[in-house]
This record gives sequence, C-alpha cells and structure tokens, in this order.
Amino acid sequence: MPQAPRCFTPDNRILLGPGPSNCPPSVLQAMSSPMIGHLDPQFLKLMEEIQQLLRYLFQTRNLMTIPISGTGSAGMETCLVNLLEPGDTAVICRNGVFGNRMADVAERCGANVVTIDAPWGQIIEPIAINKKLASLHKVKLVGIVQAETSTGIHQPLQEIVKIVHEHDSMILVDAVTSLGGVDVKMDKWEIDAIYSGTQKCLSCPPGLAPISLNERAMDVVRNRKTKVQSWYLDLSMIGKYWGSERVYHHTAPISMIYALHEALRLIMEEGIDARVERHRQNALLLKERLHELGISFAAQEGFHLPTLNAIAIPEDVDDAAVRKTLLDEYGIEIGAGLGEFKGKVWRIGLMGFSSQKRNVFLLTEALKAILHL
Ligand SMILES: *Cc1c(COP(=O)(O)O)cnc(C)c1O
Repeated sequence: MPQAPRCFTPDNRILLGPGPSNCPPSVLQAMSSPMIGHLDPQFLKLMEEIQQLLRYLFQTRNLMTIPISGTGSAGMETCLVNLLEPGDTAVICRNGVFGNRMADVAERCGANVVTIDAPWGQIIEPIAINKKLASLHKVKLVGIVQAETSTGIHQPLQEIVKIVHEHDSMILVDAVTSLGGVDVKMDKWEIDAIYSGTQKCLSCPPGLAPISLNERAMDVVRNRKTKVQSWYLDLSMIGKYWGSERVYHHTAPISMIYALHEALRLIMEEGIDARVERHRQNALLLKERLHELGISFAAQEGFHLPTLNAIAIPEDVDDAAVRKTLLDEYGIEIGAGLGEFKGKVWRIGLMGFSSQKRNVFLLTEALKAILHL
C-alpha cells in the first residue's frame, strides 16, 4: 500500500503581494465552525446578515448585493455574462492585466468589444472615454478597473461615471483590489454594477466574489432576449436563492460564507473611513521608507494605489533571487511584475489585515539587508 502523505501544514507567511492577504485569526476560526445545511434557518439568517454587511461595504442600498461562488474573476464574469447579450457593444478600458481580462470575457459573451487603451502605469483619461463614446452608436456598458493590481494605478471614477451616463450607457467597475482598502461609494458615485473578491482588501480566503447591481442594471438582466450563456452564473436563478424564495440553485460554499461574515463584521467594527485611512497611512509610510532607500514607484504620480504599491526594481538586482530570499529567510511574500512589468516591477500589497505598520518596517528592513542599501 502506498503511504498517505503527511498532513499539510504550511508555514506562516507575511503576505505582502497582490493577494491573498493575511487573514485575521477569527476569520480562519470561523471556517472551522460546524457544517450546517444551505437551507438551514440559521444559514438563511447568516445570508441576510451577509447581504446587509455587503451593502454597508459597497455603500449601497441595492437589493442585488450578494457573494458569487468563485474568486474575483467569477464576479467579473457574472457581471459581464448577465449584462451583455451577443451583438451588444461594450467599451472596455485597458491599462493592465485586468482590463485585458475584462475585454476577453466580454468578447466571449458575444459582445462587440471596443477598447480604450492607456499605457501600463497610467490612468484612463475621462476625455478618452468621452471621445470614444461620442464616436459609437448604442454602447451597452463601459468596463473599467478601479485598482489595477498589475500596475498599482488608482483610477478616479466619478467624472467617468458622469460621462458614461451622459451617453446613456452603464458603468461596470472592477473593485477587486479597492473594496475595503480605498473609497468605493457605489450609490453616491452612481455605479451601475460592481464586483470584488474576498482575498484582497477584505482579508478573507479566496473563494467568493461580492457583487452589486443597481435597478438599472437589473432591468437589463430581467429584459434579456437570450438566456445567460452560463448556467452557474445566471443571476435570475441565483437571485431566487438569495431572495425570498430560497430556491436551491447550487450548494452555497458554507464555510466560505462563515469566513466572509466574520471578515465583513471586522470591517464594520473598524469602520470604512478608518479602514481607508489606515491603508492610506501605511502606504505613505512605505513610500517614505522606500524613498530613503532610493527606491521609486512605477505608476503615474498622483495616482498611486495604497493597497498595491508597484515599485521599480533597482538596477542590477536579481528579481527572482531577492523575492526568494524574502520568502525563505524572512517569510515575506511580495509580487513579481506581470506582463509588460515583468522583471521591472515588484508589487507590494498592503491589503486589509496585511496593511500594518510593523509589516512595512519588516519589509523595508529586509530589503535594506538583502540589497545592501
Ligand atoms: C485579483 C484580481 C482579479 C481576479 O480575481 P481572482 O480572485 O484572481 O479571480 C480581478 N481584477 C483585479 C483588479 C484583481 O486584482
């Protein structure tokens, strides 16, 4: 008989990459609570609370505010596959990996995808959107990433939302690395549809994708001419489980929902404004300390994302070797550059529970020692 492998016991890491971030102990504990059924009255009550907590987090009153089973990309796909029908025109803004992914998903929905491109590390300018929308007929939606995790850009949204609405189109926002770390005001900013993920600034394990759609977006979903291509992500069916009917669609990932409840509860306890301020302060501290070491930022000045800091790798430094030493000797994970930024940029996440003063000092001292600065 082959021997069973040993029980898997990973080391404790300090997660300062593009996600997952570290989880507070009580979030991990919540996952080890006893299993109950997905239609158990206790679970239904938990679902109610999850929706209320998510509405607090998104700063919205939207009824359709739920966690989708799956990671952030499932949230992206849910929004696009429900809002778009074959032949619709969608404008997608691309200035990094996740804008590219949005365009890819929209294309797979059968949409006619028009892109607005900006260089990596730069924001999308509102005027570019205005021009593009003026040149097109009947654009169903405009997709944009608020926090581009591949480049460290914090995209301003308010002016863009106004422009999109002036052209009678809807705005879809990727808030995967912004929600719970920087301001996201869904109702005040009049965002029509939004998605996020649990493992970035919510500091919950990966596996759920909170989404919210306003009534305008839900009207589009309700008035579709064709069936949603994805059975699993069809909001008209998922909505019947989360709504008053409680009709079985797919088994909710029970333990993940426990974890999300605790993560959201902790966010409410801290308060959104205080949490955003903590992320801002710790990113400023990181910037100061890196500046002292002569390390500079890669993204456009004035638009640095506090939750994901893209920094230029100093010259003559072995990218992979430094990251390996950080992990092996200091237990710290940071992210490598992606795509156009591969080998040029390190990505330092200060997300959720990982956004702590002591982590900033630990990382910068470790870099100082490894790079002999
Ligand atoms: C991480 C991320 C995603 C994808 O989320 P997964 O959980 O990896 O599926 C989408 N958009 C942005 C901006 C991200 O940072």
